[in-house]
Amino acid sequence: MRQWAQALIDLHLDASWTFGFDNAKTRAGLCDYTRRRISVSRHLAARYADDEIHQVLLHEVAHAMAGPRAAHGPLWKRTAKALGYDGKRTHDGAIASEFATWIGHCPAGHVHYRYRRPTGALACGRCSRRFDVAHVITWQRRSAP
Ligand SMILES: [Zn+2]
Ligand SMILES: [Zn+2]
Repeated sequence: MRQWAQALIDLHLDASWTFGFDNAKTRAGLCDYTRRRISVSRHLAARYADDEIHQVLLHEVAHAMAGPRAAHGPLWKRTAKALGYDGKRTHDGAIASEFATWIGHCPAGHVHYRYRRPTGALACGRCSRRFDVAHVITWQRRSAP
């Protein structure tokens, strides 16, 4: 996996960029523009299938190519797509939540993510197995990262 990452960097970026693993638990990958380093969480790398890790790498390489101002806007999307990033997969945790537009909090503080505006009241499944108004989630639309 280190070889792939290096091959992708060699192919699309210049020699100032390096690859490494990091210890993040809440996100899959990172593009650090200051250190010019692309990293993948070793925890997630151990759990993800190869093609999913490849997608994470493409996601981050596209960030490096598009630049920090592009965020997840049209330029990044075009770049990522040209690299072969499908953007369809929802990885549990990091990737899924990174793209989710709606963030919700239950009264106990559990965080929930949705891609579309939730219709109707939703209760927190971690607080209660059945619908209970005491555990209703409050949703907020997230602005672009
Ligand atoms: Zn991203
Ligand atoms: Zn909860």
